Amino acid sequence: MSKLEYVSEDKAPLPPKNAEVLTTCCDYCIVACGYKVYRWPVGTPDGGPRASENAFGVDFPTGAMQAWVAPTQYNVVQHNGKPHNVVIIPDKDSKAVNFGGDSSIRGGTIAQKCYNPKKPTSDRLMSPLIRINGTLQPVSWDTALDVAAELIRHTVKTHGANAYAMKMYSYQFVENTYALSKFAKGGVNTANFTFHDTPADVTSTPGFRDAGFDNFGPAYKDWGDAEVLMICGTDPYETKTMIFNQFIKPAIDQGQKTIWLNVRETAGLAYAKSKGNALHIQLDPGTDTPVLGAIARVILENGWEDSEWIKN
Ligand code: SF4
Repeated sequence: MSKLEYVSEDKAPLPPKNAEVLTTCCDYCIVACGYKVYRWPVGTPDGGPRASENAFGVDFPTGAMQAWVAPTQYNVVQHNGKPHNVVIIPDKDSKAVNFGGDSSIRGGTIAQKCYNPKKPTSDRLMSPLIRINGTLQPVSWDTALDVAAELIRHTVKTHGANAYAMKMYSYQFVENTYALSKFAKGGVNTANFTFHDTPADVTSTPGFRDAGFDNFGPAYKDWGDAEVLMICGTDPYETKTMIFNQFIKPAIDQGQKTIWLNVRETAGLAYAKSKGNALHIQLDPGTDTPVLGAIARVILENGWEDSEWIKN
C-alpha cells in the first residue's frame, strides 16, 4: 500500500529584471516588518543567476545577508485573471523596523499564505457557509447577508439590543473597522460588543493599563534605549521577534537590565538570563496587576519616584 508523504519543494525561481515590485508589510504580528513582492506572469522568462538577469541585480550564489529566495518564499497566484509568480521576501531597503531585510520565520514564509488551490491554502473558504438540514453548505453572499440581517432584526426586536453580541477584528484601524463598529454601536446599539482579544470593549492589556502605563506609547527604539526594560506577560522574542532581535537583544548584549513578569520561562527570557542581567518574577496567571501595584507602592513608600518629572 502506498503512503502519503510530504515532499518539500527544493527550488524557487528568481524574479526577472522586469518583474513588478510592490512593497507591503507582514501582517502576522503588530511589528509590521517591511516586505517586497516581486510579481511576473507564469509562462514568461524567470530571472537568471547573473546580476544582469535578475531583479536583485546580484550574482548567484550570493553571500550571507545578500538577496536569496527560499522555496517557501515563492508561490503562484491569480492576478488580473492570469496565473502569476510571486516571490515575497523581507525588504532589504527597509528604513525602519526590520533593517537590512531581517525577518522572523513567520513573516519569512508569508508567500505560503497567498491563495493557491494546489497548496495547503486550498482549504480556504471561498463563500459563506450556512448549516442547512444539519450540514454546512456554501451559499451566495447575498443569501448569507439576507439571513444574517433577518436573524439580527428578529433577535433585537424580540429580546432587545443587548441580545445581539458582536466580536470583530481590530488593528489597521478606522477605515476597515468603521462600518462594523458603527453598525454594532450605532445601528444596533448593543453593549455586547468588543474587539478580537478582549472580553469587553476595553484595552487589550487591562492589567498594564490599570497600572498606569500606555503600552503603545514607546517607539521601537525606546525598547532598546531603556536602561531597564520591564516585560509583562509576554516574550517579545516569541511574539514580536524583530523588536527583540533588532532592538532589545542588542541592548541586552550591552548590559540592559530586563525584568520579566511571566508565568513561564520562555526563549527570550532564557537568553536574557544567559547574559546574567535578567530578573524573572514567575507569577500566577492574572496576578500581574497586584504585583505592579505592589512595586509602585514600594517605589512611593521609599520616595524613589521622579517627583519633579511627574509634577511637570
Ligand atoms: S516580527 Fe515576524 S511576524 Fe512580526 S511583522 Fe516582523 S516578520 Fe512579521
